[in-house]
Amino acid sequence: MRIFDQAYIDGAFRPVLGREELTLVDPTSEVETGRLRLADAQDAKLAVDAASRALPLWAASSKAERIDLLNALAEAVEARADVLTQATIEEYGGPVEQARWRAGLAAANFRIAAGLLADFPFTRWINQTEVVAQPVGVALHIVPWNSVYNAISVKLAGALAAGCPVVVKPSEFSPWQVSLLSECFHAAGAPSGLINVVTGLGPVVGEALTADPRIRKISFTGSTPVGKSILRASAERIQRVTLELGGKAPTIVLDDADPAQAARQALAIGFTNNGQACIAGTRILVQRGRIEAFSRAIVEAAQAIVPGDPRDPRTTLGPLVNLRQYERVGAYIRRGLEEGARPIIGGEGRPEGLERGYFIRPTVFADVTHDMAIAREEIFGPVLCLIAYEDDEDAIRIANDTPYGLHAYVLGRDLARARGIAARLDAGRVAINGLVHEPLAPFGGFKESGIGREYGLSGIEDHLELKAISGGA
Ligand code: NAD
Repeated sequence: MRIFDQAYIDGAFRPVLGREELTLVDPTSEVETGRLRLADAQDAKLAVDAASRALPLWAASSKAERIDLLNALAEAVEARADVLTQATIEEYGGPVEQARWRAGLAAANFRIAAGLLADFPFTRWINQTEVVAQPVGVALHIVPWNSVYNAISVKLAGALAAGCPVVVKPSEFSPWQVSLLSECFHAAGAPSGLINVVTGLGPVVGEALTADPRIRKISFTGSTPVGKSILRASAERIQRVTLELGGKAPTIVLDDADPAQAARQALAIGFTNNGQACIAGTRILVQRGRIEAFSRAIVEAAQAIVPGDPRDPRTTLGPLVNLRQYERVGAYIRRGLEEGARPIIGGEGRPEGLERGYFIRPTVFADVTHDMAIAREEIFGPVLCLIAYEDDEDAIRIANDTPYGLHAYVLGRDLARARGIAARLDAGRVAINGLVHEPLAPFGGFKESGIGREYGLSGIEDHLELKAISGGA
């Protein structure tokens, strides 16, 4: 049994003051693995107190000090890559290879920020006016359970580079991954109060933090409904807000794409991270005349999917994170069936041979019309829709006919044509012929997928306030 009853505040691990507890369950076995003591408003206050004390010192720190710390953070997570990977596998159900890749992203995010900082222009001149970029203040980073190391590190890297202390509010479903990461922060020698971590419930510790007027920046990654509530709450204090929210990404399969290859790519894009990814391509758009051939290719490609224990290196699809997700995704599959969609792979229940665990059969629905709930709402599990389009114009129209706009994919042979289509899609990122992650490029959503951009220079700029100083010459 693992007991998580410490918060990382003011450079030390200290007992959580909140009294409420949560039982932790391994999503693969459904066996109880530990307990989490949930932080509350008292812990939130201590964390913001500490970050506020750290603000003047870190805001005045030199580039060299910030670069040293970012590199030390990268080294600390690299040194613990194995155990970080193990925690993702056991706590979250991530298959080995993906879990290892995700652990590696944390080190990369710190190193990239260190590299960009060296030449980052904190001041520039416009005629006789000096424009100064100063740290926005204490930042609050609220993150979900589905890509813990990456979400925390990419925000943190930008904030530290900009000169901001941080309070991290992780999800209550990732305490092991978070406590390991906190150990890395400590090992890297982060100054007291610069990085604080309080794990607890959103409506308790999350709301206490967002309501604290000393928090000047909120960077939130999570669902669109919670993002909206944070935006409303921040209006009271006009806190700067970045929102990285949900998605319903289209994967447009052009009529010159090889069906077998496109089917493999579409499944990889749709089922990444066990289907629990904001960037997952969950609406596969296929030209009507090619839909039968493409469906056959999907059935063929799906043979390679191996659902099972994520500790087994042969596994390609692990369980969902918790019972709530399992029930929610199952309900969407039933909803799809009721709405008249036809599963060409998958359907209700666990994959064959798996008697327990929060496993869902990887499912692709055909005969989906674009008004169905399964085609419009974010499911956050391995459930995809095949939607027919008439021509390229129609594909673009359907792709953009969604409240979301985080990511989009285009699969096809003619790259000029694919790029032309990409230019007309309303999404923060568009990838052609596969899942490509460029950590230096901006990342963020159009429409209800968010506000603002992070990664690369955007992640640093996101934590800065501009000031123009004129006169006196
Ligand atoms: P969620 O919105 O339920 O929770 C996210 C975080 O917000 C958690 O830490 C939660 O405790 C906290 N929270 C909840 N209510 C709060 C409140 N009232 N005040 C302050 N904090 C509160 O999301 P989730 O279920 O943890 O994660 C899945 C969602 O995250 C999906 O919608 C997915 O698309 C989205 N996501 C987006 C991105 C992106 O970069 N755009 C990346 C990963 C996940």
